[in-house]
Amino acid sequence: MKTIRQIYKIGHGPSSSHTVGPYRAAKLFRARYPEADSFEVTLYGSLAFTGAGHGTGKAVRSAIPGAKVIFDKKTSDLPHPNTMLFRAYQKGVEIASVRIMSIGGGSIRIEGESSEEEDEIYAQKNFAQILEACEAEGSTISQFVYRTEGEAALREYLREVWHTMEDAVERGLAADGTLPGGLKLTRKARKLYAMRCHNESSDITMERTLAAYAFAVSEENADEHIVVTAPTCGSCGVIPALFYYMRHDRGFGEDEILDALAVAGIIGNVIQTNASISGAECGCQAEIGSACSMAAGALASLYGLNIRQIEYAAEIAMEHHLGLTCDPVKGLVQIPCIERNAVAAMRAVNSVNISRFLYETRRISLDQVIDTMYRTGLDMNEKYRETSHGGLAAIYEEKPEK
Ligand code: SF4
Repeated sequence: MKTIRQIYKIGHGPSSSHTVGPYRAAKLFRARYPEADSFEVTLYGSLAFTGAGHGTGKAVRSAIPGAKVIFDKKTSDLPHPNTMLFRAYQKGVEIASVRIMSIGGGSIRIEGESSEEEDEIYAQKNFAQILEACEAEGSTISQFVYRTEGEAALREYLREVWHTMEDAVERGLAADGTLPGGLKLTRKARKLYAMRCHNESSDITMERTLAAYAFAVSEENADEHIVVTAPTCGSCGVIPALFYYMRHDRGFGEDEILDALAVAGIIGNVIQTNASISGAECGCQAEIGSACSMAAGALASLYGLNIRQIEYAAEIAMEHHLGLTCDPVKGLVQIPCIERNAVAAMRAVNSVNISRFLYETRRISLDQVIDTMYRTGLDMNEKYRETSHGGLAAIYEEKPEK
């Protein structure tokens, strides 16, 4: 398996392949040529067809301010459907050019180079092998991850990831207005955070607060702002919501949150390696189901539960998302995606509450449920795999919001 860094990528929403990948590519190219005084970026193929609607140009210009962005709809002679050509100039003379491909999930590939993102650094291939390694060494999952990846550098990376997640929650809670794309959906996070029902119980306060945090991040994603894929843009609200709550409402320390992110990351890694985290490939169970599974396992570890309880929490969370379809209305990451992040954050808490008590009676392993998710996804009708041709996307009728 690869580094868990490829699960957490920082970039612009709303789409990992149309905004996160291009943003990361632009940032990398900009950093390579500090002497350049102007840049030109040509977006080809799918990025040219749908990039304007997804904000690809904005994402590129955010990493390279002032860059000239060209949309070229040619689809032939490209190494990948999502290809970008970057050019750097100094005093009007081209000093460098390279093609970079956004290959999905925010990952990029540079033409002619072998990317470090492709390195396999874990000998283990599934959760059973991770559990075996941890039990043999007497280590926790986060200790195992740090030892494999190098603790100091990984912690530094996770800290940047965490601060970006916190920023997204806080920006989303402070924002008002209507989300882009034509659905005229108003932001709800701020309102939800401030609402109280009569004699509100602490349970309802917790769920409302968690939901408000998840809405905050998902609305930031829909508004094309900076988020972290966890593991995708569509599902980017689940993990920040849960851990922002644990950090700021329950008083867990920042380093404890980083350890939990390491656990969530390795669970995401196992899912990506053995199944999929792509809604286009396996439906929403692969995006929100994976985020919920990662969050549940990480929360169990934050609570100090043992490895089998962690595994069971992650398994429950995935099992009860099996079959979840992807049917975003108008192809926007808004309905049902935003609410779905909030529900998944709450479901992660429920999963841990069951695993805490019943882990010794379980019959299904995490690896088995991941395999089941993958098979279910491959069997799923194409209408329910990010085409916006089925489900809510097909029956949606425009109505003004009340
Ligand atoms: S419905 Fe589709 S686009 Fe929305 S979060 Fe789920 S997988 Fe992503």
